[in-house]
Amino acid sequence: MASKEDTLTPKQNIQSVSRRNFLKASGLGLALVGSAGLAPFSKLGAVSGANAGAFARGKAKNIIFLVSDGMSAGTFSTADQYMFWKEGRHTHWGELFRSGRGRFSMMETSSRNSLVTDSGAGSSAWGCGHRVNNGRINMDASDNPLKPILAIARDAGKATGLVTTATISHATPAGFAANMMSRNDEREILEQYLERDYDLLLGGGHSFIEGNDQRPSLHPKIETGGYEFIRDRASLLASERSDPRLIGLFSDGHIPFEVDRVHSSENLHESVPSLAEMTEVALRRLSSNPNGFLVQIEGARVDHAAHLNDLGGLLFDQLAFDDAVGVALKFIAERDDTLLIVTTDHGNASPGMSSGQNLGGRNLRRMSGIRGSYHTLRDRLDPNQSVSEVQKHVADVLGQEIRDEHAEYILRHRNSDYEPPYERMRWVAATVGQIMANYHDFGWIGNAHTAEYVYLTALGPGSESVQPFTKNTDLFDLMVRSAGMEAWLS
Ligand SMILES: [Zn+2]
Repeated sequence: MASKEDTLTPKQNIQSVSRRNFLKASGLGLALVGSAGLAPFSKLGAVSGANAGAFARGKAKNIIFLVSDGMSAGTFSTADQYMFWKEGRHTHWGELFRSGRGRFSMMETSSRNSLVTDSGAGSSAWGCGHRVNNGRINMDASDNPLKPILAIARDAGKATGLVTTATISHATPAGFAANMMSRNDEREILEQYLERDYDLLLGGGHSFIEGNDQRPSLHPKIETGGYEFIRDRASLLASERSDPRLIGLFSDGHIPFEVDRVHSSENLHESVPSLAEMTEVALRRLSSNPNGFLVQIEGARVDHAAHLNDLGGLLFDQLAFDDAVGVALKFIAERDDTLLIVTTDHGNASPGMSSGQNLGGRNLRRMSGIRGSYHTLRDRLDPNQSVSEVQKHVADVLGQEIRDEHAEYILRHRNSDYEPPYERMRWVAATVGQIMANYHDFGWIGNAHTAEYVYLTALGPGSESVQPFTKNTDLFDLMVRSAGMEAWLS
């Protein structure tokens, strides 16, 4: 039977954030989270999903929650097929399906007010067990905060962590940790992380730490919090500290797309860690806590690449995410006390290999020649360039000679002299994506999130009760019950 939170109410628009609501969201949550005896969060104690009661109780000391953000089925398949073509092995996640190791499920990803969720509502469904309106972070329909899973884990004595290739205060990590009327209030979200005393934050978004005319620097709070503060890969890998108190922010905004990180002329791979490297450090440091830990690890830029219809961005970030899955599998191989969840919050652009021209892996070979993201290509393109200049930049960045008429299309679009029939595909990036589909046999149905059901895999204590069809909110129940955290719901 559908509960109130499951009801889709499409006419209900996301409310604008009033100052009063903002204070209510951030202030109340800040002041009262973690204060024993008080119940600042509404609707707590209701472990509510369809599978509630079915999940095994209390055997998981640790929980690792891995998210490939915006991963459609075709993204998963293409990464697995590319990996087999390239290295003769399947992806770590694909190998789990092939071997039948773990439990597998299709997951429905809707938010409270839309079949197509955004990442804030998507992660909030896991984070508080309730569907919230798109754009919000763990706020119910009456603007009341709902206690997020990371605060629950912290109160249960566990070490807590967030790892992402986006800004650390971005929607998906925030969905496990914060309460906010708007996911865009990233500075306030970061302040909540510090107030709520989470242990480990690794990702991008250094710009939100710095002070300016409007706000103070957050460095004093980081210092009084006892955190080790790191800004580059070498320091992350060389650190000899083993405790969980660690903040590492490796870029001002998002961490670069993997295809740019690996191929950039500024040697970004030496200064910015991979998701797998951050994962390795996070698991080592968080597992030093005798009461265990809960960490969310996000391959965020799979989603961003899908929005851009950028195959190189998509494929290489999905493979980088899979490397992090490999690190997590290695961690749990040596123990039986860790619940591992691997999934995505929603599909994006439903891309995939298509057409009958993939003979002999021609398109896979072409994909292997991609040397940069569409952001890198965009920075090189200029409306005043000639057709041959455009062709040269595309060849340099995407590893592909394109025909004259295709280069002309890009120029026309750069000069706003082109209107696609499907209005969503108005971006230049979408035009480039469609042009490259001629060479990569890899197409896109749009450039936004989808309502498709997505893949979920779970291993370790608690996972045995995962059913073949799951709602996103079920994963909150799974985590709470598997780790025996019911006593800290409020
Ligand atoms: Zn997105």
